[in-house]
Amino acid sequence: MSSELLKALALDVTNAGTYLGNGEWSTATGAGVLKPQNPTTGEVIAEVQATTEADYETVIARAQEAYKVWRTTPAPRRGEAVRLCGEALRKHKDALGSLVALEMGKSKPEGDGEVQEMIDIADFALGQSRMLYGYTMHSERPGHRMYEQYHPLGLVGIISAFNFPVAVWSWNAFLAAICGDICIWKPSNKTPLTAIATMKICNDALKDAGFPNLFFLINDAGTALSEKMVEDRRVPLISFTGSTQVGRTVNQKVAQRLGRCLLELGGNNAIIMDETADQKLAVPGIVFGAVGTAGQRCTTTRRLIVHESIYDNVLATLVKAYTQVEGKIGDPTDAANLMGPLNSPEAVQQFLASIEKAKAAGGNVEIGGTAIDRPGNFVLPAIVTGLKNSDEIVQHETFAPILYVMKYSTLDEAIDMQNGVPQGLSSSIFTTNLKTAEKFLSAAGSDCGIANINIGTSGAEIGGAFGGEKDTGGGRESGSDAWKVYMRRQTNTINYSDSLPLAQGIKFDL
Ligand code: NAD
Repeated sequence: MSSELLKALALDVTNAGTYLGNGEWSTATGAGVLKPQNPTTGEVIAEVQATTEADYETVIARAQEAYKVWRTTPAPRRGEAVRLCGEALRKHKDALGSLVALEMGKSKPEGDGEVQEMIDIADFALGQSRMLYGYTMHSERPGHRMYEQYHPLGLVGIISAFNFPVAVWSWNAFLAAICGDICIWKPSNKTPLTAIATMKICNDALKDAGFPNLFFLINDAGTALSEKMVEDRRVPLISFTGSTQVGRTVNQKVAQRLGRCLLELGGNNAIIMDETADQKLAVPGIVFGAVGTAGQRCTTTRRLIVHESIYDNVLATLVKAYTQVEGKIGDPTDAANLMGPLNSPEAVQQFLASIEKAKAAGGNVEIGGTAIDRPGNFVLPAIVTGLKNSDEIVQHETFAPILYVMKYSTLDEAIDMQNGVPQGLSSSIFTTNLKTAEKFLSAAGSDCGIANINIGTSGAEIGGAFGGEKDTGGGRESGSDAWKVYMRRQTNTINYSDSLPLAQGIKFDL
C-alpha cells in the first residue's frame, strides 16, 4: 500500500528530508533518520534523512535570495503561483489524501478533506492577493497625504503538528506567499512523508512555471534544528502549531529576540446542551466531535456540559452511539471505518494514563477507555462522568478520544464551566432559545476564538480566522484578515505643499 502510494506521487523518499530549492533534494546524511510509522500496523513506512546544519544554512541563503525577487513581484502575480499549487493539489488529491490517512492515521475522507482545505485556501489566497488593503487617512496638515501599506516580512518558519500534517502548512504558506514571503517548513517528525509529497507537488508546479523558490523543507530527527530556526533572527516570523507546552517555550525564545510568533496550540473544547437543544443535531455533532480523527483534532470535543433535566437521557443516547462506533474502528483507509488508530504508541499510553487519573479522581468510565488488543495504536473511545470541571484531568488536554460529561443547572454556571479551563480554542452550544444563543456569543459568553451555535466544536471553514485565546496562544490563521500577520505595516506621509507644517501645529522657528 505505502509503496504504491509513493509511486503514485512519484516520490523517491530516499534521503529526501530537505528541499534545497531549484528542484534539488539534499543527499546529505549524518543528522539522524526519521522513521515514520503506519499507526494502523506499527510498521516503519520509510526512512527519511534529517537536515544537516550545512543544508539548513543553504536553505536560509537560498530563501534570502528568493525573497529579494519575490518581495517586489506584484501581489496578483504571486497569487498566480499559489493558484498553480492549488491546481497541482487538485490533480494529486486522491493520492495525497491516502498518504495522509496512511501516515497520520485519520480516515480516508478526512485525509481527502485535508487536501481539499489546501485547495480551498489556495483559492482564497489567490483572491486575497488582490486585496492586501491598507487604509488612507486624512492628514491634519494642509498639502499632506497619509496612507498605510503592507510590505512582505521576509522568511517565515512554519513548524507544524502531526495531526494536520499538510493543511496547516498551506494555511500559512499560501497566505505568506501572496504576501511576498518565503517559507521554510519544519513538519512533525511523525509525518515527514506527507510533507515531502506536498513539497514535491507544489514546488514542481512552481518550477515548471518559472517561479522562484518559495517553499523550502527541513526535517529534524530531534528538536535541535527546530530550536535553531526558532532562535534565528533571519526568520522574522515563526508560525508554530502544536502543544501548549512546546508552544510556550517557542514563544519565549522568539520573544527573546523580539521576533514575531503565531501560535496555534492546544484546546479543551466544550459543547453545552441546554434543555431546549435539538438532540437530532446535537448527538451526531458531539459524537463526531469527540471520536472523529480518534480525538486528535485541536478542536476535538473534550467536555460536554448538559442541562440536568436532560442529562440521563443524553448520556444513555451517547453510550448507545459509542457502541455503534466501537464496531467501526479499524484501518482508516477503509471507508467503512468511522475511527482509526491513535498516531503513536506513546499516545495510547497517555490515553490509558488519563483514564487511570480520571478513575483515581472519582470518575466513572461509562464506556470504552481501554486499548484494543491488535497491531497498531487502537483504543476504545471513552465517556467519563462523575468529575468536576475543576478536576485536574478535566483541565488538561489529553490528545485522545476521552469525553468528560458533566451537568449544570443555570446558563451562567454552564458558561463559567465552559470558560473555566486554561485553553480557549473552540466552543459551542446546542439550543433553540434565541436569548441563550445570543448570550453565549456575547462579551459575557464564550471566551474562545471559535464559538458556534448548533454545530459542534470540531473543524472549521477556511474563510474564518482560525485560532484561540489563553493557552491556545492567541494566533489566527487562514481566512478573514489573518494575512496581516505575514506582512509588516508601514505608515507613509507625503508632503505635496511648499511649506513644512509640523504636526500638532508646533512652531520651530530657525
Ligand atoms: P508537539 O508540540 O509535540 O509538536 C509540534 C511541533 O513542534 C512538531 O513539529 C515538533 O517536531 C515540534 N517541536 C517539538 N519540540 C520542539 C522544540 N523544542 N522547539 C521547536 N519545535 C519543537 O505537538 P503534536 O503532538 O505534534 O500535535 C498535537 C498538539 O498540537 C495538540 O496539543 C493540538 O491541540 C495542537 N494543535 C493545535 C492546532 C491549532 O490550530 N490550535 C492545530 C493542530 C494541532
